[in-house]
Amino acid sequence: MSPSELPVADPVESFWTALPNRLDDFRSSELLPAECDVLIIGSGFAGVATAYHMFNSTGPQSSFRTVMLEARKLTSGATARNGGHIKPDTYMGATKMASVYGMKQVAALQKYETEQVYLVKQLVEKEGLDCDFHLTRACDVIMDPVVAEQKAREYHQLVKEGLVDTKDIAYTPKKDAERISGVKGAQCCFTFTAGHMWPRKMVHQMLEGLIQQGLQVHAHTPVLEISKSRDELGNWTVSTPRGAIKAKKLVVCTNAYTSSVLPQYKNKIIPVRGVCSRISSPKGSKMPHLPSTYSLHFDALQFDYLVPRTDGSIIVGGARAAFWHDRDSWWHNKNDNEQVKDSAKYFDSYMQRYFHGWEDSGAKLERIWTGIMGYSSDLVPHIGEVSGAPGQYICAGFSGHGMPHIFSASKGVARMVVEGVSFEQTGLPAVCKETQARLDSTVNHMEDTLKVVWERPREKL
Ligand SMILES: Cc1cc2nc3c(=O)[nH]c(=O)nc-3n(C[C@H](O)[C@H](O)[C@H](O)COP(=O)(O)OP(=O)(O)OC[C@H]3O[C@@H](n4cnc5c(N)ncnc54)[C@H](O)[C@@H]3O)c2cc1C
Repeated sequence: MSPSELPVADPVESFWTALPNRLDDFRSSELLPAECDVLIIGSGFAGVATAYHMFNSTGPQSSFRTVMLEARKLTSGATARNGGHIKPDTYMGATKMASVYGMKQVAALQKYETEQVYLVKQLVEKEGLDCDFHLTRACDVIMDPVVAEQKAREYHQLVKEGLVDTKDIAYTPKKDAERISGVKGAQCCFTFTAGHMWPRKMVHQMLEGLIQQGLQVHAHTPVLEISKSRDELGNWTVSTPRGAIKAKKLVVCTNAYTSSVLPQYKNKIIPVRGVCSRISSPKGSKMPHLPSTYSLHFDALQFDYLVPRTDGSIIVGGARAAFWHDRDSWWHNKNDNEQVKDSAKYFDSYMQRYFHGWEDSGAKLERIWTGIMGYSSDLVPHIGEVSGAPGQYICAGFSGHGMPHIFSASKGVARMVVEGVSFEQTGLPAVCKETQARLDSTVNHMEDTLKVVWERPREKL
């Protein structure tokens, strides 16, 4: 393992991390235990949800000694730096995904992503998690006439084929799109059910409950290496700066940083730096409340997403037009300890520029931050037992889109760990299954799709 694959120290604070939490630097004990039954690496939504499902399963988990190790503060990776948007991909990526996996697989994936919105809602309500969860509509606004025409055509084709469930999707053509969306220059728009919340609050509250149930958690304990083979008792040995720990089973939930512990994932899960921000208006400003979340699509690849909060502020992520021409500033980049050049300028007068009624709002950028996503080279997450490593499981590679995946993906992994079920028995979408063929493949659909951005001349962006 190269230390350069680990998360960097001192990430910039996001809106979600700015408030200190008692769990930030939490360690269950002064010394690391020497051994455990299950070791979870990573304390983002994936790691914590895996522990949650393990502790809430009907299997023999109560006798499992389960430990979670985290390289930095607890839940300080993408889960603490994202937009908090749980937005299933209902139609937008369907045609591209179908060209790789076929429409039947896409339909299964879409159904699964759509369900996550309600499953997370149920989790929040059942556990009484105070995390600003809202069930809402997402509004995709297409700003480019050519893309609008293409997306409308693709959508009508999906409706005609009838494989993908389109009953919750509302399409509005250009003549009404600006009025329906409230966005200046809208060429068409689509709305469908989605959710949003304060993700770190949700995950920290889940962790509090798990610690009480017996999960042992250690912040600031990076995993440096996993042994090449198991010892005679069937244990993997995991090295950290605080000593080694042996475990019968490992669950790797390190997303963008997976190659820091499993080097075979170096070009399979690629660290990609993203930008997110919070825009707010002075008290008493008059502007329309935005009842939906938004994505503004400027061309086939560049979009921003907006999550209006009940306090009147807006979480806005994206800003790709400001920096995507400079590949090294985001692709294979895990520097969430610094801002991206020109990204703050991009959000100047953002709401005034795009939203009717916001011209006199005084809305301005209040905070901006970076975060690291784990883009999967074959476009889908890696879920299941790691090929050639019995007892090692992975739940990672969410390509900047983990919120509508992780709750069920981690449940599937927890069932494999606790109950010993196969991937197929979990009911997860087949395309997410981890296999040797995926690791051996030299195709990189993600890079093939994105490289037009850094290969085309800047003025065309
Ligand atoms: C700016 C930004 C905006 C986003 N917006 C959205 C959004 O609105 N909606 C959406 O669906 N998704 C969004 N995403 C993606 C989403 O945040 C992720 O898909 C999701 O949080 C992934 O969760 P995770 O637990 O897999 O990863 P993470 O939250 O990154 O957790 C992985 C953890 O593993 C730890 N770790 C890594 N290596 C090691 C090691 N060797 N030893 C110990 N610990 C280690 C890390 O420190 C980290 O805490 C966004 C991401 C970013 C960066």
